[in-house]
Amino acid sequence: MKAKSLIAALGACLWLFNPYFFPFAQGATRLDLAVEHGVDNKSEAQARLAIDTAIKFFQNTYGLALERDLQIILVPNQDTYRNALIRYYGLKDNEARDLAEKTSGFSRGALGATIIVNMGNLHNSHAQLFCLCHEIVHQFQSQESRDQHNSLRWLSEGVADALAAHILETAGLTRGIDYKNLWQGIIKKAPRWPRLENLHTYKEWFAAMDDNGSQVTYGTAAVAVLTLVQWKGYRPLFVYFSTIKQSGPDPAFYQAFGTKAADFEKQFSPY
Ligand SMILES: [Zn+2]
Repeated sequence: MKAKSLIAALGACLWLFNPYFFPFAQGATRLDLAVEHGVDNKSEAQARLAIDTAIKFFQNTYGLALERDLQIILVPNQDTYRNALIRYYGLKDNEARDLAEKTSGFSRGALGATIIVNMGNLHNSHAQLFCLCHEIVHQFQSQESRDQHNSLRWLSEGVADALAAHILETAGLTRGIDYKNLWQGIIKKAPRWPRLENLHTYKEWFAAMDDNGSQVTYGTAAVAVLTLVQWKGYRPLFVYFSTIKQSGPDPAFYQAFGTKAADFEKQFSPY
């Protein structure tokens, strides 16, 4: 395993770096896209489209620009993804292997804003666009909350999925997908869905994915966020993340959505 990792790490030196400057940046904020050897041109093009589209959406909808330098690394398969998780995030080998098996992309805000995406695990254009948009949403959550956005994991993941869908819809990049219907359909077919009150921490989130499957877990969180959107629209989603850094998660939730998080969690059902 070590020898294989070393070979893969040496292979990574052959990366093609494409410096890519963020067009809406204020000051010296920059966005670097690193495309590892093995990622095909079409996938890279989809990633660039998603990045541009998501950043423009945040500028136009929320008046937000990236305030931190961001590097995005596209890798072609699970081995290179695992190695990138070790190299960039300092994960132990077993942690990186576990994460590489369970996720297609990972975003870190604190300690250097970085997104790593395994393009080899995203088998069509829509999945590539969606995953990149999802990770960009996490970057804005992280920035606006000063890295306190994960107090309620279901909310940060649900907002990332619900907004990724909204970004693609707004830009006309989806072909008639009714996301709510899609997510509810997945949940209805499943034997069970996770309760929101059991989706607060990182550990609980991963335990729920083991118990319910990732699609049902993400789908439940996304439908919960769409329920909040139905009540209040999309604007409060980032009122929550902007407020949390001063007031903490419970007052921020109340200010954004007009109800207590615990009450919402108790009464929520995905269908
Ligand atoms: Zn996520």
